[in-house]
Amino acid sequence: MNEQIFKNEMAKAAVKTRCELDPLTLAAYWEEFENWDEAVFVQALQLASRELNFFPTVSQIRQRRFAIDRQPSRPAAPGVYECPQCRDRGYLEIYHPLGYQPIRDKTFAISKHLRTVVVACTCFKGEEMRKPIEPGKQNQCKPLIEFDSAVMKPVTTPIISEQVEELENFVTNDWQSSSQRCEWIP
Ligand SMILES: [Zn+2]
Repeated sequence: MNEQIFKNEMAKAAVKTRCELDPLTLAAYWEEFENWDEAVFVQALQLASRELNFFPTVSQIRQRRFAIDRQPSRPAAPGVYECPQCRDRGYLEIYHPLGYQPIRDKTFAISKHLRTVVVACTCFKGEEMRKPIEPGKQNQCKPLIEFDSAVMKPVTTPIISEQVEELENFVTNDWQSSSQRCEWIP
């Protein structure tokens, strides 16, 4: 990928997520993505920064790429999704359960504990994401784990304090009352 295109896209994503990028961060991301195809990187980064209201981590950009690569078909026009849950993307971004304990401990801080991970939707669009890729295909990645509403909570964006409250309720009430009490680790 062209380094200038990379820098421009990173700068745009920084503006959108209201983050500042220092040269060291930029260099670290470049190291991760320099071998990627420009178009794929741009699409994955734009998708991630639209969906999150903070600057996406390396793994969040990678997850978007996997999701893009594995997307079975083009998304339908807005408002006509077959699956309103994933909007026909086949995947959902959920709060990482590593953030649950700090919530229960009442030490949760968005900047410190808010992590997300991508899982496959339960709908038929998500089926593609849950299937292992056939041998010989490029961009191999592991099948995504299936969404389980009893132990996982989809990310609502932008993440503002009310949504953190919602997450707190999920972790302390809904989650506790769910039949599946074991800790879920992706
Ligand atoms: Zn779905």
